[in-house]
Amino acid sequence: MNSINWDTLGFDAYRTRTVIISHFKDGEWSPFEATENFSLTLDPFAQVLHYAISCFEGLKAFRQKDGSIAIFRPDQNAARLKRTADFLGMPCPSQELFLQMCEACIKNNLEFLPPYGHRASLYLRPFLVGVHPQMQLTPYPEAFFVVLCAPVGSYYGQHMKSRAAVIPGNYDRAAPKGSGSYKIGANYAGTFKPYQIAHNQGYAELLYLNSATHQFVDEFGSSNFFGIKGNKYITPLSDSVLPSITNKTLQEVAAEFGMEVEKRPVPVEELAEFDEVGACGTAVVIIPISHIDRKVRLEEAEIAQSYRFCPDGEVGAASMRLYNRITGIQFGEQEDPYGWCYYI
Ligand SMILES: *Cc1c(COP(=O)(O)O)cnc(C)c1O
Repeated sequence: MNSINWDTLGFDAYRTRTVIISHFKDGEWSPFEATENFSLTLDPFAQVLHYAISCFEGLKAFRQKDGSIAIFRPDQNAARLKRTADFLGMPCPSQELFLQMCEACIKNNLEFLPPYGHRASLYLRPFLVGVHPQMQLTPYPEAFFVVLCAPVGSYYGQHMKSRAAVIPGNYDRAAPKGSGSYKIGANYAGTFKPYQIAHNQGYAELLYLNSATHQFVDEFGSSNFFGIKGNKYITPLSDSVLPSITNKTLQEVAAEFGMEVEKRPVPVEELAEFDEVGACGTAVVIIPISHIDRKVRLEEAEIAQSYRFCPDGEVGAASMRLYNRITGIQFGEQEDPYGWCYYI
């Protein structure tokens, strides 16, 4: 049990000791329960199994330099879950219940919280699923809210590395005025197959364009897009991009560094003008992108256009500086003037 190697952790479904569960029924959330039973019992007609009535969040808890335990910006995740639950017509836990259950999950799995010094953390995965048995396409106020956790590594080990990405011309992520800006499982379903194809071709990431015209950059499959041009931090403004909390944090840090922050539509051709490009999200903070190939058909070898930012493996100075500032605050190595750390 105590043989976890904190230095070689990846980002995997790791079975810890306890999950935290609450059940919404008859108009209220049940008192939450910490259980070692990892099996959820669902009616085979449960909404989630047929109609993908499911959404989730992802956030991290850190053992800081001075020994304290901090969750990074959990209020933002609670608010985003509410927005997503409303979109799906689901009941949603209050911010207070969300925070209490995240805290309970950490306290009940303390031996899985990586000690300071390994660049590792405890990833929290709250999720909400509609469990009422029904065939009709109508919302029903019954749901499970569950908080799971898993110890995760820094993704890079000791050194941050840049990776390749591809624009899959024949796959879209989200419809215009659709579900793209909500953190729902259904948005991910259509990305499994293209990711598999891209990975087999040596690409780490898929970069999706806006599906209406394919003229603008939306985001990567599970992370937001940002580009650095001179002293500017540029990120797409689009209705079908997930509002990433990491991106929001990076924008605030970039402003702190005296950079200009632009949130506006990003035409695909502008990729040729960026000095650095990165994918950002909680799991990785930043994946620097070495180059992006644009393909008309992902399955085929032909590359229509290629945009280069840095040699494979290398990392641009601005991306590195942003990354170090955020992780410095997360691990309690640098002051947190923003109050982003929520201490438990
Ligand atoms: C979760 C997610 C992100 C990243 O959001 P963070 O709050 O930074 O973790 C970006 N894009 C998509 C599609 C996501 O689901």
